[in-house]
Amino acid sequence: MADAALVLLVTVAIAIGFFLGRRSTRKPNPTAIPLAFNKTYFQGLNHLLNEQPDKAVDAFVNSLEVNADTLETHLAMGKLMRKQGQVDRAIRIHQNLLARPRLDVEHQHQVHLELARDFIAAGLFDRAEMLLKEVISESTQLRSIAQRYLLDIFQDEREWNEAIRVAEALSLSKYVKGNTAVRHDLSQTIAQFYCELAEEAAQKNDTGVIRKLLERAYSADKNCIRASILMGGHENGAERFKQAIRVLSRVAVQKPSRLADCLPELYKAYVAQDPAGGFNQFVNYVETHLKTHPSTDAMLFLVEQLIVRSEFEPARRRQANEILSSYVKDHPSLAGLGQLISLQLPNLSGPVANDVRSLQGVVSHLIQKRMIYQCTNCGFSGRQLHWRCPSCKQWDAMDRLKGKDVE
Ligand SMILES: [Zn+2]
Repeated sequence: MADAALVLLVTVAIAIGFFLGRRSTRKPNPTAIPLAFNKTYFQGLNHLLNEQPDKAVDAFVNSLEVNADTLETHLAMGKLMRKQGQVDRAIRIHQNLLARPRLDVEHQHQVHLELARDFIAAGLFDRAEMLLKEVISESTQLRSIAQRYLLDIFQDEREWNEAIRVAEALSLSKYVKGNTAVRHDLSQTIAQFYCELAEEAAQKNDTGVIRKLLERAYSADKNCIRASILMGGHENGAERFKQAIRVLSRVAVQKPSRLADCLPELYKAYVAQDPAGGFNQFVNYVETHLKTHPSTDAMLFLVEQLIVRSEFEPARRRQANEILSSYVKDHPSLAGLGQLISLQLPNLSGPVANDVRSLQGVVSHLIQKRMIYQCTNCGFSGRQLHWRCPSCKQWDAMDRLKGKDVE
């Protein structure tokens, strides 16, 4: 099937090439050899008819002179090959172009860019990187495009320092939007790169640099909630619980729908800061927030903490029940219902308990299938938080699904 599509593409390309080649051979051109051209063209067609796409590509490459008129045809053919997943053929077409001495510098850069894209598609990042750096240093016209590709490589390779350097350079350039030239705004992306570095430092226990990296994330994007969540964890680790509460509470203002993501660290900070009254402060804080910004996930986290607490404070179980029943009435959700059933089961007995237990099984099964996050850019959804969407690769685009969307 892929080869059939390829045969079609090569036919079209050769036809375009033949047309352009004929046009170019009509001009007085001492290097053009029309008869040889026609011969290779027909050889190419013969290969296509015999379903030999590799030889057909060779015939195409050899049949058409490379000049300003035909370069676009060669580049289009290379792009088509890459799009079809025929990366080795695309590389062959682009390398053949570079071997032609008559290609001017501007066109050489254009081919370098395409060849770099072939190398990226083939996973040959080192070779792509070299070509892109050459284009960045030599071509003002193609610099920002090459920077974008290089930025993609550094992100895929998780080379965050390099990614920051390229993103900052790219931020200095402008692109045309409508009728005006505007700067590339990569401040939120740069903040995410600093957060990645901070997470790496935390994994290596290199606590000395974490604060500095997160402050850089804030100076790139003062509303970066990931930096707030990481800073909260860092402050907790250093037993600066008041500071942890302050920075984590910022998330509720920065992005209220994401409060549930910072609740585990916030809970730790409240309880550690004041072992006597911290727990009640935490409950009040979450309840107050939920009145204006309902969130099933935040409610469930609160209820879980109340149940844990009920082991040595039995009244907490009743409190959990009351808070949850009232919340589920106003904001019905499967996850809320599942937790409510778990809370009620110990109070039931006999056949009713058995029926409710069966119901609990069904509800749990459905809850396990529910998606928790969804990308606001492309709609990708999953149960796990990804700071960079695995589908569209956009940073911080995933948000918690809420209300009926969750079910
Ligand atoms: Zn996405």
